[in-house]
Amino acid sequence: MVPMNSFVVLGTDTDAGKTTFSLLWLAAFPDWSYWKPMETGESDSQKVRDFLPNVVVHPPVASFRDPVAPPLAAKREGRSIPNAVALVASCPSQRPLLVETFGGPFSPLNDHELQFDFVRELKLPAILIAPARLGTIGVTLACLKSLRANEVDPFAVVLMGEPDEYAREQVQIHGGQPTFSLRPPAVWTTDAIGNASNEQLETLKKLKESSVGPSWLSSLQNRDFFSIWHPYTSLQPADSPLPVISATDEFLHLADGRRIIDGISSWWTILHGHREPRLMNALKVAMSSYDHVMFAGITHPPAIRVGELLLQSAPWKGPISYFADRGRVFFSDNGSTAVEVALKMAYQFWHLQGEPQRTVFVGFEDGYHGDTFGAMAVGRDPLFFGRFEPLMFHAERVPLSPERLDEVLDKKKGTIAGVIIEPLVQGAGGMRMHPPSTLRAIHEVTKKHGVLFIADEVMTGCFRTGSFWAHSAASIKPDLICTAKTLAGGILPLAATLVSPEIVKVFDTPDRERTFFHGHSFTAHPMACAIAAENLKWLLDQPPTAPDRFARFWEQELSSLREYPNVREVRVLGTIAAVELDLPGGYLAEAAATMRQRCLELGVLLRPLGNVLYAMPPFNTSEQSLARIADAIRQAVKSVE
Ligand code: PMP
Repeated sequence: MVPMNSFVVLGTDTDAGKTTFSLLWLAAFPDWSYWKPMETGESDSQKVRDFLPNVVVHPPVASFRDPVAPPLAAKREGRSIPNAVALVASCPSQRPLLVETFGGPFSPLNDHELQFDFVRELKLPAILIAPARLGTIGVTLACLKSLRANEVDPFAVVLMGEPDEYAREQVQIHGGQPTFSLRPPAVWTTDAIGNASNEQLETLKKLKESSVGPSWLSSLQNRDFFSIWHPYTSLQPADSPLPVISATDEFLHLADGRRIIDGISSWWTILHGHREPRLMNALKVAMSSYDHVMFAGITHPPAIRVGELLLQSAPWKGPISYFADRGRVFFSDNGSTAVEVALKMAYQFWHLQGEPQRTVFVGFEDGYHGDTFGAMAVGRDPLFFGRFEPLMFHAERVPLSPERLDEVLDKKKGTIAGVIIEPLVQGAGGMRMHPPSTLRAIHEVTKKHGVLFIADEVMTGCFRTGSFWAHSAASIKPDLICTAKTLAGGILPLAATLVSPEIVKVFDTPDRERTFFHGHSFTAHPMACAIAAENLKWLLDQPPTAPDRFARFWEQELSSLREYPNVREVRVLGTIAAVELDLPGGYLAEAAATMRQRCLELGVLLRPLGNVLYAMPPFNTSEQSLARIADAIRQAVKSVE
């Protein structure tokens, strides 16, 4: 655990004892520096300077004469007040740092923001100070609840005043956070402050060394442990989940103050970076018009824009005036449902043409298409899904080879509905890559046998591999294309299945009997569509340079790994780098946990797929972060030599 070395001091109210706490803390730990960015009335910064001359005090960003709320004090002096972002930008870089706030967390900062906006933007752990007086239990719990509701979860509470064991205990029990009592100095002199601090050094140390950070972290982890069931995770996992309190660009900010690089784009979703301003702005605009509206018998401009933009990217080019010639877009909300839609549509396509016996789909070994039953049936990973075999429909599973596919399609003539493939990269199966020539040959075999070709681009879409769609590297035209993960920039869940004109034609009739009966509550969520429209427009207008840049970087930085005795293969395509190790154990390889841990120690989040360590960071990842990822990969590989 990295020791936490900075925090922000919040008070339940004005006069809660924030400065008293700060003085006791700084007297005990004079290597910490102090910053109170906004002051009104008597200066607390000056107080700290006077009483503790050895402590570094950073100057406030703004000080006002009158002891009233800063926006009012500023108005009276005819001055303006900086906003939360400007305040954060002025935060001193010196660590360890104690940041003291004014008033309460929800006191106004200016006419548009509360102090809370500054606290949240600051992304430092917080401690809550409350006065030990009658009524403090309720007030403190109310403040804790409001903070938590807004995603600030103080790591500890301090009751400042005469110790009140009942109040301390009650706040701890009901607030669920470690709670301490501290007594103020008897008088306001340097010596008295020093004495009070000294006498209570054990409590301050407890706050700092044993409990601060880790205790907050472990309290979140405990609460999680008793309430949450995580995906692909044992109920008794070896490691606790990492509590993330915010995300920006390529970084995740953890509850203990660490900032780690999201080296796998949050399960391959986040495309341009976390909270990318252009996409977040599209969401903000959408929020002023929409929440959610159903999509059967209703449409909305964001979905229409996404439909048009997706068709613009599709390989079927018909005359622009007649969209049926260019295919259609069927929305859903995640990768698995996009695949289910494709499978059901493919089967109904045959059924409507008098071939109901075409019930068999073909998937490839090491393919993965999702966790719903249809998707499992065509993915059929024995470890993940083996026990569900009796419940799944029959599907053929062949090695990724045009010849082997040809054999199966020959043998099963007349019974095959379609072939599904992840173009160029089989993701969850271990970032296994195949060249465009193999993909083209597989497509040719499929067409030779007259069956449908489904491109599952849930992971590979939106330029992850270097082109808008991975399949276009092979110059082929799939019949159905599935997209999800990055469609709305990874910000909100959205998925779509693109349907070729040939398939559309078969369904294109007023006959209700031929309707495609499928839909989900959140199909084409307007806010997700608004982000997706902005994302697609951006990608189509200005194809990203990141895939080429990353690929060059990975080759340069990781190719030396090919010489390592325990490395079987290094694979690079676009933003993706994968290192396959010569280790036993497959997906459950012990080494995976060791490598993940080593990367975390180096500030990089990677999640090995068993013996395959890979990275797929968001497009806006800096050179410096790429270098840190590459270094983490090298160190992790060494750690399991
Ligand atoms: N298809 C592919 C190729 C995938 O990689 C995934 C998810 N990893 C899915 C489908 C399923 O997507 P989701 O998890 O959104 O259901």
